Amino acid sequence: MCGIVGYFGKRKAAEILVDGLRRMEYRGYDSAGVACLFDTRIDVVKTPGKIKDLRARVDAADSVAMREAVQGIGHTRWATHGPPNEINAHPHLDASGRFALVHNGIIENYKEIKSGLAQHGIQCVSDTDTEVLVQLVAYCYQGSLERAVSEALKKVKGTYGIVVMSDHEPGKLVTARCGSPIVIGIGKDETIIASDASAIIPHTRDAVYLEDYDMAVVTSGGVEMFDLQHAPVNREVTAMDWDEDAAEKGEYAHFMLKEMFEQPDAIRNAIRGRLDFEMGTAILSGLDFSPRDAAMISRVLVVGCGTSMHAGMVGEYAFEELAGIPSEVEQAAEFRYRNPIITPTDLVLAISQSGETADTLAAVREAKHKGAVVAGICNVVGSTIARETGRGVYLHAGPEIGVASTKAFTCQVAVMLMMALKVARTRRLARHDGEELCRWIDRLPELAEAVLRQNDAIKAVAKKYARCDNAFFIGRGYLFPVALEGALKLKEISYIHAEGYHAAELKHGPIALLEEKTPVVALLNNVPGKDKTLGNAEECKARKAPVIAVVSAGDEGVADGFDDVIVVPDCPACIAPVPTAIALQLLAYHVAAERGCEIDQPRNLAKSVTVE
Ligand code: GLU
Repeated sequence: MCGIVGYFGKRKAAEILVDGLRRMEYRGYDSAGVACLFDTRIDVVKTPGKIKDLRARVDAADSVAMREAVQGIGHTRWATHGPPNEINAHPHLDASGRFALVHNGIIENYKEIKSGLAQHGIQCVSDTDTEVLVQLVAYCYQGSLERAVSEALKKVKGTYGIVVMSDHEPGKLVTARCGSPIVIGIGKDETIIASDASAIIPHTRDAVYLEDYDMAVVTSGGVEMFDLQHAPVNREVTAMDWDEDAAEKGEYAHFMLKEMFEQPDAIRNAIRGRLDFEMGTAILSGLDFSPRDAAMISRVLVVGCGTSMHAGMVGEYAFEELAGIPSEVEQAAEFRYRNPIITPTDLVLAISQSGETADTLAAVREAKHKGAVVAGICNVVGSTIARETGRGVYLHAGPEIGVASTKAFTCQVAVMLMMALKVARTRRLARHDGEELCRWIDRLPELAEAVLRQNDAIKAVAKKYARCDNAFFIGRGYLFPVALEGALKLKEISYIHAEGYHAAELKHGPIALLEEKTPVVALLNNVPGKDKTLGNAEECKARKAPVIAVVSAGDEGVADGFDDVIVVPDCPACIAPVPTAIALQLLAYHVAAERGCEIDQPRNLAKSVTVE
């Protein structure tokens, strides 16, 4: 789930491991550790808390391995089984202390394995599901670490990305994946294994991505790859396309702030070369559809989680309005487990920034299994969902480091609009309407800039409400998903309890919660439905709730009588989610900053959620 790093080369392992973990901090974690193998001894240092605490402990450790070893493994844990304390932190050792392992994911049958091990007198000391795996590897060991690992993995149900080493075989790292990403960076005289490219890029751009059920053995002779039956597999070495500056926050106080301000450029990249003004359509080569294929689609099903699901909801409206195709959005996990009815003319769109979201991946597999046409909308190139869908559209938003998604959301919306436009043009959307939409999509970066210029004004509003305990966001039509996203942003980073509702729904229950200290952010942009939402905002005001009115430029009069106003550019309804969401991102950010929250690493959250 969180960060894995492994190193074998000629340089000091502990330093490289700790630095790699620091680069993956953005993924969110609660404890961390490293194990280094020197000579024939494994030393482990781990701690709850942050990488700086780990670094201090590594520096203070009375351990030759921590100072001298050129081989080691490290981990940042996002606890699934057992609290985040030192014992549960990874790396885990087997009972003999001769095998060390780091693991991302969940071992679903760990209780069964644990009792099997206990029957052989092997006791686990931690509460984690992970520890059984290292005990099992040690139990299976008969002179070959990779054989022991494959034997152990054959007994496991669940998801894993692992790296293992043993003092029986110094100079060797074994890694494997199933459902949790593993990238192997191949440098000169060194190999870096990680769950995330950010730990590898300072050292090399040449990387191999493991696929599910792949294993790799790293030695001084190079990297060899197998499946669990030890048949060799071939995975291409690809050059990682990643701008190192993008992984540094530069002059900005937080990655989130930087990424919000990157939105004009990110959206520009997402739409570059993809708008055909002449034909009034979008060119999305990765979708790999002929107009005839597009014309055959009978239904669009969008699956995603969290922010991606909200972007999918905007897409749902766009597909219905522009293309006249029945569309639905579903929480990806629910989609998978409710046995959905899918026909061969259904188009399933899977949205995931990381391309590794476990629930979304599971939905992709289910949809493919049932014969749907599946396409991915991902940011991370080469990610699992991108590979497994085999067709789709990349966001090209650049790395998103802040846990709370910002630029990925607005780029997802831009991509959904272009997809809807492309499909719509094979249907009822006329060329001149398509051209008009192209022009508006093309203006999204400029609209984003206009909102970012409101930063100070939004900050002033945020200051006023930073101490509230509850907040509501209301909107309708295309702005309903934006209300949900605004509330999600606020709760993610400021820990204020926030709920997004359809503006009409508030009076069916939640209105009971309104009082003087509970602000309502009302999305009153100048789009169809505005007057109704205005009525709903008045209802809130009548219950003494302060109302923050989000209004379109030129239509400021709508905010009269409300407590605060945020002005966004005037634009058509389907375009409005982008500028409006940016305004709500800034609002959430400044509230969280005012409250002194850890904005880039909100408590309990992880950047890419690779557990179901
Ligand atoms: N399930 C493991 C644990 O709770 C691994 C968590 C992770 O992926 O960080 O220790």
